[in-house]
Amino acid sequence: MNTTANAYGLPDPEELEAWAQPYFSEYGAEEAGRPPNAVSGVSPSAAPSVGYSPVVQPYTGADAGATAGRAVGAGFDVNRIRADFPILNERLSNGKKLIWLDNGATTQKPRQVIDRLSYFYEHENSNVHRGAHELAARSTDAYEAARNTVAKFLGAPSKDNIVFVRGTTEGINLVAHSYVRPLLGPGDEIVLTILEHHANIVPWQLIAQETGAVIKVAPVDSDGQIILPEYTRLFGPRTRFASVTHVSNALGTITPVHEMVQIAHGFGVRILVDGAQSVAHTPINVTALDADFFVFSGHKIFAPTGIGAVYGKTDALNEAAPYQGGGNMIRDVTFERTVYNPPPSKFEAGTGSIADAVGLGAALDYVSQIGLPNISAYEHELLDYATCELCGIKGLRFIGTAKEKASVLSFVLEGATTEQVGKHLADRGIAVRAGHHCAQPILRHYGLESTVRPTLAFYNTAGEVDELVRAVREIAPKF
Ligand code: PMP
Repeated sequence: MNTTANAYGLPDPEELEAWAQPYFSEYGAEEAGRPPNAVSGVSPSAAPSVGYSPVVQPYTGADAGATAGRAVGAGFDVNRIRADFPILNERLSNGKKLIWLDNGATTQKPRQVIDRLSYFYEHENSNVHRGAHELAARSTDAYEAARNTVAKFLGAPSKDNIVFVRGTTEGINLVAHSYVRPLLGPGDEIVLTILEHHANIVPWQLIAQETGAVIKVAPVDSDGQIILPEYTRLFGPRTRFASVTHVSNALGTITPVHEMVQIAHGFGVRILVDGAQSVAHTPINVTALDADFFVFSGHKIFAPTGIGAVYGKTDALNEAAPYQGGGNMIRDVTFERTVYNPPPSKFEAGTGSIADAVGLGAALDYVSQIGLPNISAYEHELLDYATCELCGIKGLRFIGTAKEKASVLSFVLEGATTEQVGKHLADRGIAVRAGHHCAQPILRHYGLESTVRPTLAFYNTAGEVDELVRAVREIAPKF
């Protein structure tokens, strides 16, 4: 049987649009008849398909109890989107309302994802690919539908290009061990950049230590931007692989991945793009990008923890060795030898996070309904606003001032440690990360061991930014 969106009461996008047309001639029509997974604040009357419909309504700032210095996000009804995220109404034990600016660490989950997980456990729970009973069929259909959703979301040619993993870290380890390690011998080279998260450094170090390979590191300029001519110079006849982050989690720099992929390919080298910090903020099309591998974590894009995906080109996945051995990934086993399943099964040994994969599908559907171009445009405005407001604070120094940035506002403050700033903000209900962000090499490049790092998502508001700015001002040096 086929378990589709309809089976749990959810229309697919085409149906949603057709269904909604008569009810929503314009934005703001009654909520009452909204389908259960529809995104609040999104008018299905927008074209194409179920895109976000601009709302001409200047931001008032009322939601965060503060008035924005100027209108941010006119046309993006952030308050109605916030209504989908129950935790955003949370009161903390000190009575403060939560202001979640730790999206780079993990994102909050909309009702649509929470409900989808509950539905799975209430109606579909079974192991997948095994068992000749109805629930096995339901869970397998839901799991494979989620794989298909990931493929479409990334612009991959087929769901067979998508391997479910625990997250970006496991995805990079998978590629390192299954694809790259067999290519390496002493003196071979792997090209990285200084911007990388530890998850995109340590796996390469481990296989380099085992094989005698060498890691080459591309530098950045003082703004935290990749210097492409320097990057190109790192490639040579011994280069076997390259890996780069799409967005730096410590600085927010958006790297020129299109050019970097082309440079790697110009030297006949395959490249992995770490999409952990880009996937929720900017549209991705792996086919247009031409990356050989693209990895991301579900929890950074409003999905559960413990699930993520590796996209791999078909030939690369076929060439790669199995990652772990066990059930699910085999076609036939004797004590003498094993015949493996083709990708993606070949890389999915054992029982995966089935419900979480289904939740990932629901999260990507949710984001797609709003539309990443809309999300990206709104966040860009919010980032500009926050940058502008924070840079007026004396003693505050931004770390990472690239022209192209996403979501991240990393800074240090004169006269206060990053821990003190983090604690002060936490006392006001504002959750940010203060530390090394698992990216010590790039922070040390700036002579630092840690920064304060607010990170934005599309449910954050200018009012929340105002609260952040007010709180930072309270402990900023008074000159
Ligand atoms: N790469 C980058 C750029 C990241 O920001 C993160 C998470 N902070 C990771 C990799 C690792 O992701 P995860 O912990 O979800 O595996």
